[in-house]
Amino acid sequence: MSKKIILTGDRPTGKLHIGHYVGSLRQRKILQDGGEFDEVYIMIADAQALTDNFDNPQKIKDSITEVALDYLGVGLTPDKSVMFIQSQVPELTELTTYYMNLVTLARLQRNPTVKAEIQMRNFEANIPAGFLCYPISQAADITAFKATTVPVGEDQKPMLEQTREIVRKFNEIYAPVLVEPDIYLSDNKSCLRLPGTDGKAKMSKSLGNCIYLSDDADTVKKKVMSMYTDPLHLRAADPGHLEGNTVFIYLDAFCRDEHFAEYLPEYNNLDELKAHYTKGGLGDVKVKRLLNSVLEEELSPIRARRAEYEKDKAAVVEMLKTGSLKAREKAAQTLAEVKRAMGINYFE
Ligand code: ATP
Ligand code: MG
Repeated sequence: MSKKIILTGDRPTGKLHIGHYVGSLRQRKILQDGGEFDEVYIMIADAQALTDNFDNPQKIKDSITEVALDYLGVGLTPDKSVMFIQSQVPELTELTTYYMNLVTLARLQRNPTVKAEIQMRNFEANIPAGFLCYPISQAADITAFKATTVPVGEDQKPMLEQTREIVRKFNEIYAPVLVEPDIYLSDNKSCLRLPGTDGKAKMSKSLGNCIYLSDDADTVKKKVMSMYTDPLHLRAADPGHLEGNTVFIYLDAFCRDEHFAEYLPEYNNLDELKAHYTKGGLGDVKVKRLLNSVLEEELSPIRARRAEYEKDKAAVVEMLKTGSLKAREKAAQTLAEVKRAMGINYFE
């Protein structure tokens, strides 16, 4: 039986938020604990983050520990998951070099996620080559660990497609040493691309519309109470709309029937709440209070665990160092196979 292996990660461009949580972190924790996977690799993608933050390496450096604390906070543990830093595994860069020959410039320019990101960053005619090529380096990250499963948000679909194309091309030209990975998406539609608190299409560190896993209870409450809802729902008596209503999208992502017995016993479930809202007569404040309670229930243990680990940041760095060494061993094995397949193992 071939092994089942997870590889996923995050760019250290800031702290992690509840979009990362529902899009990927929550699944990682479940998959890590489920025992179905033989190996789990969680990568802090600092080299990728540098492709559009090359002028601010300090920000990337500072964010690495924050992201690692977020991991530990949600319950990823080094005894089950190898947490490591991308730049400390130079084999990944070497693989990227060889994969670059298998991808055309036109193919890179077609990637819809990269296109959107280029627009958001106003790169226009001045796209750093490294940025345009980051999907290739992502293919190196995934294949170096022979990952079978990649739990990520929907914006990563084009990256996975690109990776699978590279794998097929490599295996066809040289020898079948690389593994084609599958994307692992949440089956909850609201979790695929959680919108920001401002109602914008994606909660994103770069857009400043986030609820962070490390926000304290007061901050979360303030953010929830000022969230974007339905601009047509001016008075409680008015009929409300659910489409694009961020508060209801977050409830879809976080709320379970049990929550109603605890916080709003006059309803049995979210469907009943939605029905009342669309009919009219239910104010935003009540719905926001429910959301705040539901979020608090999920976030407070994460926050507490995170704070505990934060007391000893040196230990967190040490964990990343050990993880990076382990990751290097695995990536070096794959790189050796790749070079053998290509016949560039001259001194073997
Ligand atoms: P940046 O703005 O620096 O790109 P980001 O917030 O997009 O940051 P990434 O580090 O690029 O975060 O993404 C890490 C993981 O989280 C990926 O799997 C991505 O799909 C997922 N993710 C990011 N934002 C969301 C979101 N709003 N909803 C669901 N998943 C998300
Ligand atoms: Mg991103």
